[in-house]
Amino acid sequence: MTSLFWFRQDLRLSDNPGLTEAAKAGDVIPVYILEDEDAGPDKMGAASRVFLHHALDSLNKSLGGKLVFLNGPAEICLTQLISATGAQAIYWNRCYEPWRIKRDTELKSSLTAGGIAVQSFQANLLWEPMQIKKGDGTPYKVFTPFYRRGCLTADAPRLPLPVPSLSIPETSNHGVKLESLNLRPKHKWGQDIMSGWDVSERGAQNALYEFCANGIDDYQDGRNFPAKRAVSRLSPHLHFGTISPHQAWHEAGSNRPEDDKNLDIFRSELGWREFSHSLLFFNPALKQNNLNKKFDSFPWHTDDARLLAWQTGQTGYPIVDAGMRELYATGYMHNRVRMIVGSFLVKNLLLDWRYGEAWFWDCLFDADHANNSASWQWIAGCGADAAPYFRVFNPVTQGEKFDKQGDYTRRFVPELAKLPDKYLYAPWTAPKDVLDAANLTLGKTYPHPIVDVKDSRIAALEAFATLPKAS
Ligand SMILES: Cc1cc2nc3c(=O)[nH]c(=O)nc-3n(C[C@H](O)[C@H](O)[C@H](O)COP(=O)(O)OP(=O)(O)OC[C@H]3O[C@@H](n4cnc5c(N)ncnc54)[C@H](O)[C@@H]3O)c2cc1C
Repeated sequence: MTSLFWFRQDLRLSDNPGLTEAAKAGDVIPVYILEDEDAGPDKMGAASRVFLHHALDSLNKSLGGKLVFLNGPAEICLTQLISATGAQAIYWNRCYEPWRIKRDTELKSSLTAGGIAVQSFQANLLWEPMQIKKGDGTPYKVFTPFYRRGCLTADAPRLPLPVPSLSIPETSNHGVKLESLNLRPKHKWGQDIMSGWDVSERGAQNALYEFCANGIDDYQDGRNFPAKRAVSRLSPHLHFGTISPHQAWHEAGSNRPEDDKNLDIFRSELGWREFSHSLLFFNPALKQNNLNKKFDSFPWHTDDARLLAWQTGQTGYPIVDAGMRELYATGYMHNRVRMIVGSFLVKNLLLDWRYGEAWFWDCLFDADHANNSASWQWIAGCGADAAPYFRVFNPVTQGEKFDKQGDYTRRFVPELAKLPDKYLYAPWTAPKDVLDAANLTLGKTYPHPIVDVKDSRIAALEAFATLPKAS
């Protein structure tokens, strides 16, 4: 018996339930399809594609160079591959983007009707969205009961599976070369952005082990400070599946008591990932529509110049600029800073959260339909269990509190390197001699602030006050 195993967001050999089952059934032909046509407007952004290129390259090496690469609508690609190889079955792990759920459902029935056995598995989430519901059968809208009452009282996440032993027939007649998928841009950005990342299954596991050895003990507090390495940086690996959430869950818990506070908080962050997927599952238009409908009449501004200043890290607010430049340069941004830059966009600039979602989608390695949409709605105040609208992050005090010594900010905004800590987050308050000594000319070497934080906060609250009272 020959089966196809269709890799999607599970680019690993270990803890891969679909691959493990396919291997038990006989020969396995591994395939990856670039699904831009099926994804339509939800196709991957530029940074995700670079990460994907490296993840696929590494996976292909682990499979002895036998991973079949295809490009096009999945139904056509799979039907052709099935007829070329004589495969009788296909296995995959489930994904949860609305377009994939619809497409997979249709594909499953057409393949089954054509005599091909189709089996799908749970691999990428700890609990599937359809599994976690309130007692009355409706979905949770608030995180804490979703996680504590829903997830933690359901079956515990299974233990990770070992790497299966695979028999892969010759596949060189099929598919295209990885390079021809054109996932990597030729220009320098595509190379520079990779520095510091080991995009492979082994690299993901090493990141997890490193975090469990040196990061997790300080997670509760340290996770707020972007200069510290107290977070796992596993998000792109979890998105593309170079590591499974089950392995992260169990590895974090090995050698530490179940009631350890750091462990509890780390696992609850994995729980937020589950919550976002639940929100997306029950609200397929999460990327487009405000969950809280009263925000539909929000008086957003339109200002391309301000949007560009935000995207390029030229707002004149150092912690915001550091975050936006980190994003562009590294494909990642620390969570605390994501919240600061997000609040700045939607509240101080009054620009629609969907602009932020779209920019992150293009620039993040971990760009994830569920996490990105849910997080942006949370920041904007229109999401589930969202930050109250009146909580506007002050970029000056946030910088002073969470990057006091300025290590993170100075790394990404080097023109401020010599500015004393006292003025780092409000350079416009520095006397001229201090600016001169720091080689800083506001408006030339670093921008003046594009808005006043106090005035723009008041404007945001006034805009909010125009919304209908009932939610
Ligand atoms: C505006 C905004 C947009 C975001 N967009 C994304 C996105 O596209 N993709 C993405 O994976 N995360 C997104 N997040 C959530 C969070 O910022 C990242 O998951 C986290 O910073 C990744 O770093 P880490 O792996 O070191 O996290 P850790 O602190 O080590 O957390 C471990 C894992 O838990 C999950 N997680 C942590 N925080 C959250 C959260 N708030 N929501 C959902 N899952 C979480 C991630 O999978 C993460 O890898 C966004 C947050 C904000 C505020």
